Amino acid sequence: MLFSRISQNSYRRCKATSAALVFLLLIAAGTLSGCEKKTVSVSKTGFFLDTVVSITLYDTENKAPLEECFSRLASYEKLLSRTQEGSDVWNINHSGGKPVEVSSETADLLEKALSYCRLSDGAFDITIAPVIALWNFDADQKTGTVPDENDLSNALSHVGYENVQLDGTTVTLLDPDTSIDLGGIAKGYIADLLKEDLVSAGYASALIDLGGNILTIGGKSQNQDFRIGIRRPEPDATEPLTTISCRDASIVTSGTYERYFTENGKRYHHILSPVDGYPVENGLASVTILSEHSVDGDALSTTCFVLGPEKGMALIESLDGIEALFVTDDLEMTASSGWPDATK
Ligand code: ADP
Ligand code: MG
Repeated sequence: MLFSRISQNSYRRCKATSAALVFLLLIAAGTLSGCEKKTVSVSKTGFFLDTVVSITLYDTENKAPLEECFSRLASYEKLLSRTQEGSDVWNINHSGGKPVEVSSETADLLEKALSYCRLSDGAFDITIAPVIALWNFDADQKTGTVPDENDLSNALSHVGYENVQLDGTTVTLLDPDTSIDLGGIAKGYIADLLKEDLVSAGYASALIDLGGNILTIGGKSQNQDFRIGIRRPEPDATEPLTTISCRDASIVTSGTYERYFTENGKRYHHILSPVDGYPVENGLASVTILSEHSVDGDALSTTCFVLGPEKGMALIESLDGIEALFVTDDLEMTASSGWPDATK
């Protein structure tokens, strides 16, 4: 559940997981690669969107744009939070079926999200919110609740992206008990907006990391690519499974290890099937998407996870400019035809 209220525990967890993220960032920044000359950079890390957020600008010592990025993050969170009273998403979810006016950003994101709902024939479905709420995932405590069957089938009866009508910036829920959760796509959308701002301000080399949702501007320098580590899909993993070199790219992973709890020896994670309301079990541990825009990477990583290895890969191969790496529970990797060679 993205955008849940930030608790003290979240903050502690944020600190606890930061070691792993720092390691990934070091790889991303190429600082583990040895003897190149030191690059000038400025960086800022914080806690937004219920996750650790970090932005690094290269080839500059000016910190002002970082402050600007973080204040933009705060305003996007105010629009898209499911739990902050008065946010666009909160207003939609409490509209009782009456039309709601939303910001152009929210409308834009909803349009994109609904297009992925349609493309995946509902495997990706932003109206999964009532089901997500029943599971009550708490990433910090690693706790949650296996829902009662009746509650689950009642919640599932309100799941269906066709219930969300978007007309310009007016949103109407055709079923008043439907609600939306943009946790599977919002971080990618926000990363793209931050990048747009930084590029218009003239920054040519930067790394935006929204909780492992990575978007790069240019390369680490004009003639050096970023090297991004792709995490082993295991809780508390500190070493990457593989790395890729890239510039001007988005790298987003969805996996079973971020938000989950264990009950009676069984692990329940946060990517749910809109068909039966249970965590998707298809042998996958993670899906990483490489794309130009992060909104596509974010939506598609969740979508492909739900679709599974065969249908997911078929979808990726049908899309231009999008590559994927599927990793199974036993760490077997399958890459799409244009996935970059790790040795390059
Ligand atoms: P993360 O939030 O850890 O980056 P994802 O991008 O994969 O991970 O998003 C998972 C989130 O998406 C869940 O926490 C939930 O809010 C939402 N979600 C879960 N299942 C679905 C689904 N089938 N379709 C759309 N959104 C989903
Ligand atoms: Mg996603």
